[in-house]
Amino acid sequence: MGFSLTEEQKSIQQMARKFTREEIIPVAAEHDVTGKYPTEIIKKAWELGLVNTHVEAKYGGMDLGVLDSAIISEELAYGCTGIQTAIEANNLAEAPLVVAGNDFQKKKYLGRMTEAPLVASYGVTEPGAGSDVAGLTTSAVKKSDGSWVLNGQKMWITNSGHANWFFVLARTDANANTGKAFTGFIVDADTPGITVGRKEINMGQRASDTRGVTFEDVVIPAENVLGSEGQGFKIAMNAFDITRPLVASGAVGLARRAMEEATRYALERKTMGKPIFNHQAVSFMLADMAIGIESARMMVYRSAFMRDNGEKNTWHASIAKALAGDVANKCAADAVQIFGGNGFNTEYPVEKLMRDAKIFQIYEGTAQIQRLIISRGLADEAKSGADALGGF
Ligand SMILES: Cc1cc2nc3c(=O)[nH]c(=O)nc-3n(C[C@H](O)[C@H](O)[C@H](O)COP(=O)(O)OP(=O)(O)OC[C@H]3O[C@@H](n4cnc5c(N)ncnc54)[C@H](O)[C@@H]3O)c2cc1C
Repeated sequence: MGFSLTEEQKSIQQMARKFTREEIIPVAAEHDVTGKYPTEIIKKAWELGLVNTHVEAKYGGMDLGVLDSAIISEELAYGCTGIQTAIEANNLAEAPLVVAGNDFQKKKYLGRMTEAPLVASYGVTEPGAGSDVAGLTTSAVKKSDGSWVLNGQKMWITNSGHANWFFVLARTDANANTGKAFTGFIVDADTPGITVGRKEINMGQRASDTRGVTFEDVVIPAENVLGSEGQGFKIAMNAFDITRPLVASGAVGLARRAMEEATRYALERKTMGKPIFNHQAVSFMLADMAIGIESARMMVYRSAFMRDNGEKNTWHASIAKALAGDVANKCAADAVQIFGGNGFNTEYPVEKLMRDAKIFQIYEGTAQIQRLIISRGLADEAKSGADALGGF
């Protein structure tokens, strides 16, 4: 067991940190106020290889592992999680192809992402169903020539206003159980019948683009079915083994920013004749931030490492996501507290962090859904007679 990054990982981290310092931090507040999509930043990040990190080299990608990608997303998130989410959503859209795409699909759709700074979207959630994937109603019907006709509405789809293609999960068997009722499709965004809704005005992460997407008699060629018919649920969920550690590392990046901003402020700001850092009530809040961040990062690294080494990491990825989401929210709220009245004001950086943090407990499986996965894992192990639940 080792806890050190490789020389290559350290240099990736330094590059991402420099990029964040020079390209993201100076414009983050402006994107937050205007909600402007960070097209230019994505383009620059793409040129440096900070986007589409896990696309295999044979399709033109960087072929990085989940751990490498997590190191990058923590750094980008430190600058702005709205911008990081816009970048990260590409990984989410691509993950089902990484998990189940054939050579033709990978070459065509992942290859395309490495040839130009395009973005893609992962379309699972609907207005009526998010956590309850079994409740999705978007459907696809097979025609006699093997192509499919897609109808339905997706909601909260990140990057959808700019996407070149979508991964879409649709019901293809009305009677089958959840595990077999859905199929995953790759859908070109310029296919007739697709209507992208207005950009939603969200509490935070305003640089990111979230919209509803309607599919009306959208024809999908047979070659765009991912895996095989009926495998969609499994593919969509397996994609999270790659992306949940990355979302969690984004939350760690935000938490780290909150801690660093609050530490600097606490050393400067004086009350009762001394820096507020010297009031133990304040410095212990900072200590708790460090405890949360270090622990969450370890779970990110562990769950990412497991995936990179071919081990099933679903349970650990859920722990990483749940822990990091909670840590980010606690750190951001406490940073606002340490800033006092200034913390509540838009002239200071921490109110944005608090607004941005909330979504980490909601998207890619809510805090409750992660706990459902974690507790079910415990029950399964107990029933199997394991002598150390969740252990090594
Ligand atoms: C900014 C943003 C970006 C997003 N990006 C994407 C995207 O790119 N692609 C995509 O497909 N989706 C995306 N989503 C959707 C997101 O994943 C869902 O919002 C999330 O999964 C929750 O689903 P829901 O909103 O339907 O809430 P619901 O499922 O209705 O949940 C409501 C509440 O009930 C709780 N709850 C529900 N079921 C249970 C249960 N069984 N046990 C305990 N508690 C439960 C939830 O935890 C939550 O607190 C995004 C959402 C937002 C806001």
